[in-house]
Amino acid sequence: MGRIWGLAALVAGIWLLSVQGQSLPRALGPDAPADQFSWARADAALARVLGPERPHPVGSVEAAAVRGRITKELAGMGVATHEQRRMSCVSEARWHQVNCATVTNILADVLAGAGKPVLLMAHSDSVAAGPGGGDDGSGVAVLLETIRALKARSAQPGRPVVALFSDGEEAGLLGASAYIREAKDNIAAAVNADVRGDSGASFLFQTSRGDAGLIEMYAKGVSHYATSSISAEIYKYMPNDTDLTPVLAAGLPGVNFAFVGDVAAYHTPLDRRENLDPHSLQEQGDNMLAMAEGLRRAAPEQLRSGGLIYLDILGRWLPRLPLEWALPLSLLVFVVIAVAGLLTPYAHGTRVGQLLALLMPILLLAGAVGMGFVLHGLAAWTSGHEDPSYATPVWLRLSLAFGVWAVTLVMARRSNAIACWLFVAALAIACAIWLPGATPYFLFPSLVAAPLLLATVRGGRGVALFIAALPALLIWIGFAAISEQLMGLGLHEMFTLSAAMGLIAVLPLLRKAAGFGLSTAFSLAAAFLFAVVAGLMPAYSSAAPQRLNLRYVEREGKAWWVADSVHRLPEALRAAAHFSETVQRLPVTGYVAPAGVARYPAPNARVTRQGMDVTLALDAPGDGISLLLPREAQLQSLTIAGVEAAAKGQVDTITCGTPDCGRIQMTLHLGTSTPFEIVLRSMRRGLPRPGVDLIKQRPPQAVPSQAGDMTVLVRKIAIPAA
Ligand SMILES: [Zn+2]
Repeated sequence: MGRIWGLAALVAGIWLLSVQGQSLPRALGPDAPADQFSWARADAALARVLGPERPHPVGSVEAAAVRGRITKELAGMGVATHEQRRMSCVSEARWHQVNCATVTNILADVLAGAGKPVLLMAHSDSVAAGPGGGDDGSGVAVLLETIRALKARSAQPGRPVVALFSDGEEAGLLGASAYIREAKDNIAAAVNADVRGDSGASFLFQTSRGDAGLIEMYAKGVSHYATSSISAEIYKYMPNDTDLTPVLAAGLPGVNFAFVGDVAAYHTPLDRRENLDPHSLQEQGDNMLAMAEGLRRAAPEQLRSGGLIYLDILGRWLPRLPLEWALPLSLLVFVVIAVAGLLTPYAHGTRVGQLLALLMPILLLAGAVGMGFVLHGLAAWTSGHEDPSYATPVWLRLSLAFGVWAVTLVMARRSNAIACWLFVAALAIACAIWLPGATPYFLFPSLVAAPLLLATVRGGRGVALFIAALPALLIWIGFAAISEQLMGLGLHEMFTLSAAMGLIAVLPLLRKAAGFGLSTAFSLAAAFLFAVVAGLMPAYSSAAPQRLNLRYVEREGKAWWVADSVHRLPEALRAAAHFSETVQRLPVTGYVAPAGVARYPAPNARVTRQGMDVTLALDAPGDGISLLLPREAQLQSLTIAGVEAAAKGQVDTITCGTPDCGRIQMTLHLGTSTPFEIVLRSMRRGLPRPGVDLIKQRPPQAVPSQAGDMTVLVRKIAIPAA
């Protein structure tokens, strides 16, 4: 019993260490040396740039005001700027969209030098729902303070430095794409700063191919690490994107930094400057400054070199290996562990028993994930909300932890040390082949375990196993903590699977422990009890509110209020406008309530067709428009305000996100001559007057997010046959 709960305490301690022990730099005050990055100076610049802290989406008056204040800051530092104003379109095959807007980038000539410049990037626009203190006010502040520090350093020879304060990032990376299209042949490398939250470590989460030189530069240039070669692999599957995407797509070297803690604030009214963690801003700035300096002086071969596998430990160490070593080393540790197994004399243990032991790690992983579904399901059922632990994750976290521990205890008795470590080494081999960035998560612990197992063939195995378990737990329990920070416990699979990966190394330590039955029963009881408690807690709070937009929609002379299709609509809101009991599909999906007759003129478009080309002269005033096309229209490309944009994949939505879009001429180049219908929507931010009362009924535990509350006017437009 003592061994079981002693090891449980060790695992809990390592979780605490991963959450609390992550090493972050000290936030420097206003009097820090001029050549250093100072949080206090960056924060003061951010306060000036954000001014009244209002949302400033692309095309808004507020966005122009923010740009004016950025330009003023730069002028104050003696940095020359110019504006780049363009209609820009980007086709995103993943979402079947082409997104356009008229963007206004600010370009700053920071330092002169020899060769192609280093590009520093952050976006100046915010979403419509929030003031963008973190996203990407923090990036703007990081750039301004980095520029100041670079100017303050005695002019050492190196590449020139330019800075891009891009526009329209939130509307589809439009500003950065426009800039990169034109400047890509004249850039040496880029550094981007963006966020997905307001706190936590500044992760180096994305790099260009052949990043060995860049990672070495980071390792030598900064004092606190937060990076891993797995993050680029994960990022591919995340719905988020940043301005570094067009940089990497153009084949340029680049690195991307972001902090991701307190994701509840992301793209909501909570994303204010005062909610930004000083340490996060400091680390983001230290990273930007170090990379700017490093890239200025890097040899060309350092910008594009071999690959690395790497992984930071608690922000203090950054072990790394050349990518080419991943497979041979993984094979080597597998062989060493197998040899240790063959040399180990088994006093008892049948062949069947040994085969069963090989299954235990797999059963632990599967059982842990399955347990996660059961416990999360129980909490969600109790709560009535799809993400019951959103506001108070501690109870579901405890529940999942006890649940995974119960599964671990069940699998431990038939486990075997060699089988467990062979499994880990086999995963290292599989990763080295198919997912190289993930290799260190298996290879690094195996590198510790393999020699220890070989050295303890004749005894002392217990101590060896304990030592080998420590790196596995540090790496994997740390990964579980980061996964939770990134995705919450709504994606409990990430949490349970990572925890179980670390616990594979603990299985053989538990094999001969006493008190299995009682401990397992206790763990299961605790898991289910805490799941119910998690479900009884309020799912949302004012610090972690539900995302709930309201819309006013008009179509064919009628008007509706539409609330987002959340699992359970707050009662006060439902009562305020008699929203439907179930989600309906108007042109906008959600809970629907009648709002009388239409009060605005419907958007319109004059249509002319010449063969496969359909030209629309739009009359759709507002903050932007969108066009829904049927797939059979087979959009090939479009010409908008004279700018040509290719459609990638099957496009069914075209957006144009600035006020000028409502008066624009757009030609769709189609793959069909048949007639069809399109849906034209004009959008404007906010709701008409009676909607203000509705907004008041939105409880404090709910907030608008992303594009926010909106007025949408809809008209169907017939496109004749060619
Ligand atoms: Zn952003």
